[in-house]
Amino acid sequence: MPIQLHWIQIPLHEPFRISNGSVAVKDAIVIEYERDGVTGWGEASPMGGAFYSQETPESSWAAIEALAPAVLANPAVDLDSVVEGEAFAKAGVVGALVDHELRTSGKLLCEWLGAAPRPVPSGVAIGLYDTLDELLERVRQYVREGYRRVKIKIQPGWDVEPVRRIRDEFPTTPLMVDANAAYTVSDIPVFRELDRFDLMMYEQPMGRHDLDGMAELSRQVRTPVCADESADSMELVERIIALNAARIINIKIQRVGGIRNAKRMHDRAAEAGLACWVGTMPELGVASAEAVHLGTLPNCLYPTDVEASSRWFTDDILDPPLTIDGEGYLTPRAYTVRRDTLEKYRIRHTRIG
Ligand SMILES: [Mg+2]
Repeated sequence: MPIQLHWIQIPLHEPFRISNGSVAVKDAIVIEYERDGVTGWGEASPMGGAFYSQETPESSWAAIEALAPAVLANPAVDLDSVVEGEAFAKAGVVGALVDHELRTSGKLLCEWLGAAPRPVPSGVAIGLYDTLDELLERVRQYVREGYRRVKIKIQPGWDVEPVRRIRDEFPTTPLMVDANAAYTVSDIPVFRELDRFDLMMYEQPMGRHDLDGMAELSRQVRTPVCADESADSMELVERIIALNAARIINIKIQRVGGIRNAKRMHDRAAEAGLACWVGTMPELGVASAEAVHLGTLPNCLYPTDVEASSRWFTDDILDPPLTIDGEGYLTPRAYTVRRDTLEKYRIRHTRIG
């Protein structure tokens, strides 16, 4: 009953830029957990470098190597008692354990979570561009493709004007902005200006720990504030709730250490009256499929950032690949892993146990 780690790298169609960096290749550590003749798959999906988080493929690899013997000895082991932090590594390990349970019982993940299978609306996330014309060209393309909402990245100097130009052309398209923590309370006037464009939400307008700033912004604008980077632990979610720092939580399975913690966060947010949706890092197919299933939970009230595999990646290891139907929805389903593709993109492999 071994655990195998497969570090794969799949090229992106185009580099993805946000306010703090750019990447051109997607790293992921695929975890293969075999027991009693059944194989469960998980994915730890940090970006190369320190893009969204402290975790890197190297640190996740080391953490999973440290976790594996404990998991093999006892699949129900408390991972936090073995390794501190390393949420991405734990998300991958938990994913493989849960997937093993599902494949043993023949259940879908959404059913295991207590939700009914339902189509999950997909929104497109559009990075920063050098010119407004390039941005608008992308928006036109993705609106044509049927995505259920458009999200653009903003940063100081690239905010009101891009939104105004998109709104001029697409007055009713569900639209939102993600600032990736690029603003402070002194920028509240920018968000008061953005308020007139009928946006779905302001995602992470301020720093991860600037919950007072986000609470102040929430008091001064009509558009709901969404916590993304700030929502990385239950402790921070409790503070968000206590301070009224956000009305919406973006749940990312990798960041919170796996599907079990993600479900807990969803339930706590629902209890406190905060809406949720499911974000991405973004991940390859194995982890994205988990996100689609999480998105079937009843308090996930906004479109997910999960998109078709082909939107970002030149290839993927899922069969069938994740696709968006003509109406802009993803379907939660079971899948198999294409082992030939896994080996084609693999740069490192180990077997434990
Ligand atoms: Mg975000």
